[in-house]
Amino acid sequence: KVRVRFAPSPTGALHIGGVRTALYNYLFARRNGGEFIFRIEDTDSHRFVPGAEEYIIESFRWLGIKFDEGVGFGGNHGPYRQSERREIYKDYVKQLLDAGKAYLAFDTPEELEAKRTEIKNFQYDAHTRSQMRNSLTLSPAETQQLMAGGAQYTVRFKIEPGKEVRVNDMIRGEVVVKSDILDDKVLYKSADELPTYHLANIVDDHLMQITHVIRGEEWLPSAPLHVLLYQAFGWEETMPRFAHLPLLLKPEGKGKLSKRDGDRLGFPVFPLEWHDPKTGEVASGYRESGYFPEAVINFLALLGWNPGTEQELFTLEELVDAFDISKCSLHGAKFDYKKGIWFNHEYILKKSDEEIATLFAPIVANNGVDEPLERITQVVHMMKDRVNFVKELWPLCSFFFIAPSEYDEKTVKKRWKDYSARQMSELATVLEGIEDFTVAGQEPVVMKWVEDKGYKLGDIMNAFRLTLVGEGKGPGMFDISAFLGKEETLKRLQKAID
Ligand code: GLU
Repeated sequence: KVRVRFAPSPTGALHIGGVRTALYNYLFARRNGGEFIFRIEDTDSHRFVPGAEEYIIESFRWLGIKFDEGVGFGGNHGPYRQSERREIYKDYVKQLLDAGKAYLAFDTPEELEAKRTEIKNFQYDAHTRSQMRNSLTLSPAETQQLMAGGAQYTVRFKIEPGKEVRVNDMIRGEVVVKSDILDDKVLYKSADELPTYHLANIVDDHLMQITHVIRGEEWLPSAPLHVLLYQAFGWEETMPRFAHLPLLLKPEGKGKLSKRDGDRLGFPVFPLEWHDPKTGEVASGYRESGYFPEAVINFLALLGWNPGTEQELFTLEELVDAFDISKCSLHGAKFDYKKGIWFNHEYILKKSDEEIATLFAPIVANNGVDEPLERITQVVHMMKDRVNFVKELWPLCSFFFIAPSEYDEKTVKKRWKDYSARQMSELATVLEGIEDFTVAGQEPVVMKWVEDKGYKLGDIMNAFRLTLVGEGKGPGMFDISAFLGKEETLKRLQKAID
């Protein structure tokens, strides 16, 4: 049975790239009838940020991405928070030590620092470990003495040199790395009584029966070490398959997308607004910026993957059907945030007028207007193809609800002729006589009057628009007057004439 996991570290707001990683895991799980697990990797207590875990959970709730197991979801493989699994890891560290696949290192941070200054590009490995203070260089008696005296230590993985490590990646194929380039990674720190990411990650993926590890490309350099750890434990048989997803690149195409790009270019890089508890800074989120979760999902799904067809609009279910991880791109995906805005626009069109009106109604009410939903829906119907976000509707639509209190100067100059007042007062008389004030009822009558009088249609329409809207924008003239109704239309005409 396919089992995948999303395993963030609660070190701050969840970056949009992390959301994409989670989404691909989710799609892969659903596509293969598998399970999706949510694990919190919080073994690095120095980087822990309060509120981050709750933020991550709320982000996925908003996006509609559901987990089957994990922190906050229950399941049979818990606990799913690594800080609650200390005792489990200790057994596995001991197992590696007993088998001679790991060793104790007593080097102090100062000693390590000194070594790094002494040797350029120093790496703790088979070539240098003999110069260091560890259980391989010290006598058993010395080691025992240090331990008995309560000395702080780390446990390092003993990497054998001269080996080829093969990582089988579902996107990249086989990646081969020489073990000599790997260092003896720290797996455990006695000071924290906690393992490091690498050990906890491997042990948990094994115990939680993870079958596929789908994560960002930044973890590819760690994959050979992970393969060696699986081998050291004798878990090759059940080792998960890997897929390292292409990076998200800056909109310009070069370099990794960063939080600062969002500030610089004015788009959110987080799913939800984030209040940083340390700096007090507030970073904008997709939700608060007015994006629909469906649009964000659709946008992210196509950053690094495509179905091989022209189709761009996908529901989550359609994505599940179409998703094929081997079709992920090898190259980084440009973070084209304008495409994200385009997607939101498409979802405005896709959603019913009533649905958009329901979202728009509170904004209308906040502006002191009391209109039934049905009227608001009519306005949405006329105007929604002009906006990317619901919040953009009010500035474009306020004239439907509130008569213009002043007229746009430029438009007046250009479009209000010295004969306009006279024409508008004639128009008022014509409109007054119309029984059926719908578009179909008004249009032919007004057109005939314009023709009979030999007026320029443009003059009439420009002036009419100015009186009803206050400026030169808006949908079809008769759509506006029909919506306003006879009484309000005549009122606005009269005001302009005076
Ligand atoms: N805790 C790691 C992260 O924050 C997980 C990496 C992995 O999926 O192995 O991204």
